[in-house]
Amino acid sequence: MERKKHRLSSKSLSLTESVIREMSREAVKYGAVNLGQGFPDFAAPEAIKQRAMEAIAADHNQYAVTWGVKEFRDAIAVKSERFLGLDVDPENEITVTCGSTEGMIAAMLACVDKGDEVILFEPFYENYAPDAILSDATPVHVPLYEDANGAWYFERDEMRAAFNERTKAIIICNPNNPTGKVFTREELEFIGDLCKEFDALCFTDEIYEHIIYGVDGVVETPHICMATLDGMKDRTVVVNSLSKTYSVTGWRVGYVIAPPDITGAVRKVHDFLTVGAANCLQHAGAFAMEFPESYYADLQAEYQRKRDFIVPVLKEAGFRCGFPEGAYYVMTDVNDFGFANDIDFTRHLIREIGVAVVPGSSFYNDKAKGSQKVRFCFCKKDETLEAAAERLARLPG
Ligand code: GLN
Repeated sequence: MERKKHRLSSKSLSLTESVIREMSREAVKYGAVNLGQGFPDFAAPEAIKQRAMEAIAADHNQYAVTWGVKEFRDAIAVKSERFLGLDVDPENEITVTCGSTEGMIAAMLACVDKGDEVILFEPFYENYAPDAILSDATPVHVPLYEDANGAWYFERDEMRAAFNERTKAIIICNPNNPTGKVFTREELEFIGDLCKEFDALCFTDEIYEHIIYGVDGVVETPHICMATLDGMKDRTVVVNSLSKTYSVTGWRVGYVIAPPDITGAVRKVHDFLTVGAANCLQHAGAFAMEFPESYYADLQAEYQRKRDFIVPVLKEAGFRCGFPEGAYYVMTDVNDFGFANDIDFTRHLIREIGVAVVPGSSFYNDKAKGSQKVRFCFCKKDETLEAAAERLARLPG
């Protein structure tokens, strides 16, 4: 008798390939300027590269403690106090992970059971949907709307309606990928109060915490960590990473800050998933966390300059968008170009114009909502942005 079994799990079958990563491959294939995937194309800071090399030479080459090198966890605690005003115990409240990507899925696997509802803003960073599939969560979407000035907001009654007895957690990304929204204190308090009322957790992805913009050097909406709000530390899981702040996305070093019981669970999941993040790079991370104030001010100023260059270029080329308040993306509306959808438009942009972007639908559960949007990233060298500007000027306006 012939036996036939499914070789692939239903989970893996329900995952689709990452559109963001696929766009990077397309960019290479067609020689397009890559403003798709959010990674810097400029050099990482010399001092931390040096420190990583020294750490290898000093033989930090075997497994570190599974939840992270002590010096690195200590440095994370000091930096969290310094920038967020968050008091964290490095022994019981920090887990070092392989990037924030592992941090988020480890946190979800540690906390979420089958059938638990997890609230997501829509649009959301692409990874959160597969995270929900892998952790058996039932995603519930709350829309982010864009006003006439390109500022993003949510409706409080829609947010309240999303919470119920089955709500286990809400995921926020603040500053937000892909919209560039920075959540105000009032918005965070409103969400935090709902978490308390419904005994829910908040997973907050704060990887863009230092990438915040302003007008004339004055930040409009400062980044506030959810865990610092009254009564929220005990129900907040902060996910962060070295990737964006220190321009080392390929190092895959992230961390999770959570109350001790959740940290205990995250550490177990993390241990069995990956054992640990690269030992030598954690030593370099500990060093980076001690960078002076000026490093962060310079990072902010550099990205502000890039944002203020690219947004007018995009508007001039016919994209409708506002100025993001944080992170390094611009979510644009492409309706005026008259393409059937974002996929057709992106294909045209990559193949005919020579600029790669991420189609908007990849950030939506309801693909129709993103079908006239594309996301640009601007964490690139000036010459890369200038080359993109030149090419975008060829778009029929
Ligand atoms: N966060 C980045 C983005 O949204 C990179 C994601 C990734 O490919 N890991 O583009």
